[in-house]
Amino acid sequence: MLLRSLTKINLRTLILSLAVLSVLITSGNSFYATYEVQRTLLINNTLEANRVYATKLAEVTDAFLKTTQSNLSYSANFLSSQMDNNDILMDETRRLHQQSGTFNSVYVVNATGTVIAASPQTLDLKGVKVNSTNAPQHLEAKQPLITDPYVSPLGNYMINLSHPIFSANGDYQGYIGGSIYLEQDNILGAILGKHYYHDGSYLYVVDRNKTLIYHPNKERIGQKIANNIAIDDVVAGKEDAHALFNSKGIEMLAGFAPVKRAGWGVVAQRPKQATLAGLDGHIVSVFIKALPLTFLTLLGIWLSAVFISRPLWQLAYNAQLIDKKEAQGNISSVRSWYFEAAQLKLAILKGTGLLNDKISQLHTDSHTDVMTGLLNRRGMQQMLDQYQEKQRSFAVVTLDIDHFKRVNDSYGHDVGDMVIKALAALMKNNARKEDALCRSGGEEFIIFLPDTTLSTALTVAERLRLQVAEFNMPTAGFITISLGIAYWPGDPVIINSILKQADQALYQAKQQGRNRTVTAGNITP
Ligand code: GH3
Ligand code: MG
Ligand code: MG
Repeated sequence: MLLRSLTKINLRTLILSLAVLSVLITSGNSFYATYEVQRTLLINNTLEANRVYATKLAEVTDAFLKTTQSNLSYSANFLSSQMDNNDILMDETRRLHQQSGTFNSVYVVNATGTVIAASPQTLDLKGVKVNSTNAPQHLEAKQPLITDPYVSPLGNYMINLSHPIFSANGDYQGYIGGSIYLEQDNILGAILGKHYYHDGSYLYVVDRNKTLIYHPNKERIGQKIANNIAIDDVVAGKEDAHALFNSKGIEMLAGFAPVKRAGWGVVAQRPKQATLAGLDGHIVSVFIKALPLTFLTLLGIWLSAVFISRPLWQLAYNAQLIDKKEAQGNISSVRSWYFEAAQLKLAILKGTGLLNDKISQLHTDSHTDVMTGLLNRRGMQQMLDQYQEKQRSFAVVTLDIDHFKRVNDSYGHDVGDMVIKALAALMKNNARKEDALCRSGGEEFIIFLPDTTLSTALTVAERLRLQVAEFNMPTAGFITISLGIAYWPGDPVIINSILKQADQALYQAKQQGRNRTVTAGNITP
């Protein structure tokens, strides 16, 4: 029972578990919250940085296109009166081609669609007839133009910027155009730079038809991109940022901005994974930094748990041992420093006090003769056990009222009882504190006189006998008693045989005429 209740979970473990659980939940929650906040912050920052970057590059590209269109416009003006001058046409195309490095090639086409000058000359473009398949848009446009990508008569994948040439009286005379070869090193690469980072970030440009015109991976140039919300938005002229999946299924954080002049879109993007790469390490370092305080908190909680639970534990433990003598003392010494423990301690002490009183009362009752208040046979046996245990010598006096039947017969049982009580009172008056007085039967008594010799016992017995004989009993008048004495020296002789000896001495006293004392054995000083 004790073991079973001790193995039950205790208050300290409960408090400790509760506290550890709440520390774990709280810190886990705050780690999670920190992680989420940092993650969102990193993603938003990257999206915003990419948007700003794409916007910047879109502006630079736009400015470049504007300058280039001005240059073409200038040349168109200049050539309007020189369309027949082959040398000037050649010089102007060469100048435009070589001076700025903007174009991979520059050429002049007349109003009937024939190339009349081109640079570099190695291309051997002169005399080539352009038509709607190999130079779409230009002839029909008759206005400044930035073409969609197309394959040139010489097989180059390119875009063109062109400006119409009008004579002084406004007749259309053809156009001057510059081409950018998309699959070769070109001006776009120079403007946008080689944005190919180790962490997987890169930049690309699409035209208004969602066709890639600039990409760090040249093989992808010319591909049309579908199902990409960033491209959908940017060709619609929007500037924004989205998280999306690229063509390889990698999640990207893309910022984008339109180049309005050309209907192009610039997209700058970084893999989400690269953005979040440092986050795990960051969280681990937050965790490591939080460890000492967490540990100290747990230690504090553990000490508090011990401190709080100790009084209750001590009370509970000793309450289980309530039937043991030392429990009461242990409970008294428990330091119950808070209200509940103090009240419990008080209640237990009160309870055990009452219980002990009750037990000792019951003990006394079960060892006492109700009528006389003297020891009964059980009480007498306990006395004898104690003498035996301590080897304490004693003299024993047995006594019996003479002719008691007559008292009962003459005055009734109640008067007989009163005589018995009166005799007991006389015996008590005569006794020392350490003497034990027993009512061993109806009107028979035994007196134990510890550490008393036979002769002293005889004196005590005689004194009692004479007092009884001289005492006028209520209603019954005078009575006498007979007494027998024996002595137990404290040696291993069995006590019961001493009692028998005393009984025999009493028997002799009765035989010899009553109202006398007989000793068993010789009286030695
Ligand atoms: P003796 O001198 O030989 O002892 O004669 P006696 O009449 O006293 O004889 P005995 O001791 O044998 O008788 C005891 C009587 O005491 C018998 C019984 O009726 C009576 N008695 C025993 N217990 C009580 C009691 O508690 N109250 C009363 N009133 N009488 C009792
Ligand atoms: Mg008797
Ligand atoms: Mg008698």
